[in-house]
Amino acid sequence: MRRGRRSGYFTIVAVHSTARGPSLGGCRMWEYEDARAAVRDALRLSRAMTFKSAVAGLPLGGGKGVIMLPRAEPAPGPEQRRAALLDFGDTVASLEGRYVTAEDVGTSDQDMAVIAERTRHVTGLASGSGDPSRWTALGVETAIRVACERAFGSGSLQDRSIAVIGLGRVGGKLAELLAQGGGQLVVSDVDQTKRALANRLGARWTDPASALTAEVDVVAPCALGGMLDDETVPALQCRVVAGAANNQLGADGVADLLTELGILWAPDFVANAGGIINIAVELEPQGYDERRARERVLEVGSTLRTIFDDAERSGGTPLSAAMNLARRRLEEASAPPRAASRGAPAA
Ligand code: NAD
Repeated sequence: MRRGRRSGYFTIVAVHSTARGPSLGGCRMWEYEDARAAVRDALRLSRAMTFKSAVAGLPLGGGKGVIMLPRAEPAPGPEQRRAALLDFGDTVASLEGRYVTAEDVGTSDQDMAVIAERTRHVTGLASGSGDPSRWTALGVETAIRVACERAFGSGSLQDRSIAVIGLGRVGGKLAELLAQGGGQLVVSDVDQTKRALANRLGARWTDPASALTAEVDVVAPCALGGMLDDETVPALQCRVVAGAANNQLGADGVADLLTELGILWAPDFVANAGGIINIAVELEPQGYDERRARERVLEVGSTLRTIFDDAERSGGTPLSAAMNLARRRLEEASAPPRAASRGAPAA
């Protein structure tokens, strides 16, 4: 944690794990109550990134960046914003590659270009893999197909009824993919301007609460986290929940409730990994390639099948199966070299 010498803002990087590779996670530019709250957020989010990358089998650890905007001041103007990004770049540079940054809430690919003036440990530049949201949408579409395969015996979206909540960068693109696949959509957003997209896709528009409890096959939460809790889950009428939103469960125990009610939940950090999988391709020695990125993102499907199989076999939830898979992958990566090679006779 450093106070930026240009902006005076706190810049924070949390490195939760480098067991599988450099820690990667977006840079969030956000207002916090105080610096402790900002550090807590960075720590919590960096841990989540460790599990997201591990379960996707990526050679990456978990990290997160925060540029803390002071609460009482007006939003930074262009010069102050640039100063804060350069300060953050210096903090990233000081970690010498143990942390690699990317865009997140409050930052864009143009911001990544400014950070890149101070450090090369930046992804998501317009010259590289670019905006991750279309890849996140592709991964979520794949997760929906795999969950439908499990719940209904077919991964086809033809005439499958799906409620998409939140038509932002990911939800909007997801709705387009689902409509192309033949899905019958119910869509919702707090932003009424998103109705234009609903009309273009021939989707039915409704309010967010009604979309969540709509009588549909699939609900895809693509807005904020915490939508699934002890009150909302018993009111669901769908058989599948699979979407992009992070931290969909109000508490881990909600995963048990979903399973008890016969609702198949695709763990959010598995379903929404397309963006980071795409970024990982940018970090491969051969450089970024869109075809390779597509193949890798579609692997969200096989990861999810493994998780559903493990959950069925063990009688657990998809959440516990996903966490166990991530832990196994972390343990493999942290394991010391095998005894045989350690004990090899000296030449
Ligand atoms: P976004 O800000 O572009 O879109 C969010 C949309 O949800 C907006 O249109 C907003 O108006 C709407 N919304 C907000 N509150 C709502 C509510 N209560 N009900 C209905 N709609 C509401 O964000 P995004 O990049 O599309 O991300 C969506 C979610 O997916 C977030 O939870 C994000 O953390 C997660 N996610 C995104 C990515 C990515 O690649 N962008 C990757 C992984 C996870």
